[in-house]
Amino acid sequence: MMYFLADDERKQLLRYYLPKARELGVAEELRGWNWHQPPLEPVYGAVLALYEVAGKYCPSGRDVFLRRVHGIKGEPNPAMIQGAVLHEILADLLVSAKRAIYLHGTENYRAICETVEKYAPAAPLPLTGLSEAEAADLCRKVEILCSFEKARVLSRLQEVLSRYPYIGEDSLANLTIPVVVEQKLNGAFLGLSGNLSTDAFIFSEPMILDLKFGEPRDFHRLGTTGYALVMEALYEFPVNLGCIIYGEFRGDRLIVKRDIHIISDELRQWFIEERDEKARFVAEEIDPGLADDCPATCPFYHVCCAEGNPELLPSSIP
Ligand code: SF4
Repeated sequence: MMYFLADDERKQLLRYYLPKARELGVAEELRGWNWHQPPLEPVYGAVLALYEVAGKYCPSGRDVFLRRVHGIKGEPNPAMIQGAVLHEILADLLVSAKRAIYLHGTENYRAICETVEKYAPAAPLPLTGLSEAEAADLCRKVEILCSFEKARVLSRLQEVLSRYPYIGEDSLANLTIPVVVEQKLNGAFLGLSGNLSTDAFIFSEPMILDLKFGEPRDFHRLGTTGYALVMEALYEFPVNLGCIIYGEFRGDRLIVKRDIHIISDELRQWFIEERDEKARFVAEEIDPGLADDCPATCPFYHVCCAEGNPELLPSSIP
């Protein structure tokens, strides 16, 4: 399973990251449960989505200003559409597998296997916004992802069943797929949206999992940090670790790399600074201006940079 660590990564987690996180510690004022006092207490009234705080694809933060102050919607680029579809399929497949375990029970494990083997995404896939070639490429990736994930789920299932002969359904579901996918969280304590959802969360050693299908970027760790802070604010237990899972399609193969990291003081401070800066743009309606180097794939490129669109250029926005 993409969310499940390999043996060597598990060893690294237990022998290195967990002890290291305990040893380093976290400044008390940077724990999410201290959301009611500085520096975590939200300074501005603006409510932001977590991806708006953690996403630094627009280096100046003008994307958040355009969306929140002017209500302008960006145009999702092909990579965003592809990522959304792949996320959805993965969550759907894992939930279907869990459902099959509860439905058929441990006595009927062949039926569970068959359900997992036969899993196919509900057609049609939401491919709007993609060219014909991009849509075909995405369908191919969906197939690769599904076959990868089915094989992993089935092998986990067999492994768990062979180890625990008297296991019941609930435990089997939990050990085979030990994550809660799309865990819903209310980020209101931290000035964030009430409808956040993490890709996945492992409870056994609290760790936020975030799945990406694009190039690794340093600010991706802001996402796991934000969710860790929200979890701490809601449940009052420490969340010290994050893991970003990068899926890369190479030919017919899916290459999976995982970036396990400690949710350190530095990352927590960085997240709070980003939140406060962007919330200020929104609350005080300050246009942060164009970024130095706007990628043509930016969902707001047509607003900020298109020639012949002068009424939407930064200087003329009311
Ligand atoms: S076009 Fe440039 S300034 Fe505008 S939102 Fe995108 S990256 Fe930011």
